[in-house]
Amino acid sequence: MVIIIVLLLVYFFLPTLYFKFKYFINRSKKGNVIYLTFDDGPSVYTEKLLNLLKKYQVKASFFCVGQFALKYPEIIEEMKNDGHLIGLHSLSHKNYLLMRSNKTKQDFFESLIIMHNLGVKVNYFRPPWGHLSWWGWMFIIKYQLKPIFWHVMASDWKDISVSQIKENLLKKIRGGDIICLHDGRGTNEAPARTIEALEEVIPLLKKKGYVFERVDFFEK
Ligand SMILES: [Zn+2]
Repeated sequence: MVIIIVLLLVYFFLPTLYFKFKYFINRSKKGNVIYLTFDDGPSVYTEKLLNLLKKYQVKASFFCVGQFALKYPEIIEEMKNDGHLIGLHSLSHKNYLLMRSNKTKQDFFESLIIMHNLGVKVNYFRPPWGHLSWWGWMFIIKYQLKPIFWHVMASDWKDISVSQIKENLLKKIRGGDIICLHDGRGTNEAPARTIEALEEVIPLLKKKGYVFERVDFFEK
């Protein structure tokens, strides 16, 4: 019984744990550089976020859900024009841990075609729900993608206040951190609060001397 439980844990969680551990020991050496990343979009909120990033001349990375990208092609175009990095966050945000190999393959294949048709060459991937299965790992290798996890999460997808998101960010962020936020999905119009928090947080972080870069800068 114990062996079965251990095997199940290894099967379900080992790839995820491996990459999360790797991220924590392998932080960027660039002391004052931080990396804003946004998951689960594009959505009706993304345009406002893009305007905010433009206002403060901040480059960020967007991990888009394939089906949402298909729905908002003009937002993808704007991300490209503004010089942001566009990565993939699955086809429809289903959890890979619960997906068989052929479904996982289809998920990668269909979403990469959508992004290709939108003129996006995808190099970076963030697994939905932050869970990477063995199959997911296999297709990341097959399609030559790099998995990107994070160091800081602000719980911004939950129904929490703007000041709580702001506090979470300012308390947790250190130089070299990849920060995971959300411009789509979430509870009770969560992305609107994320953007409102960033309106205050970005200038404060800039004042502290932080510099914002895309995640492809992380490995340079
Ligand atoms: Zn997500």
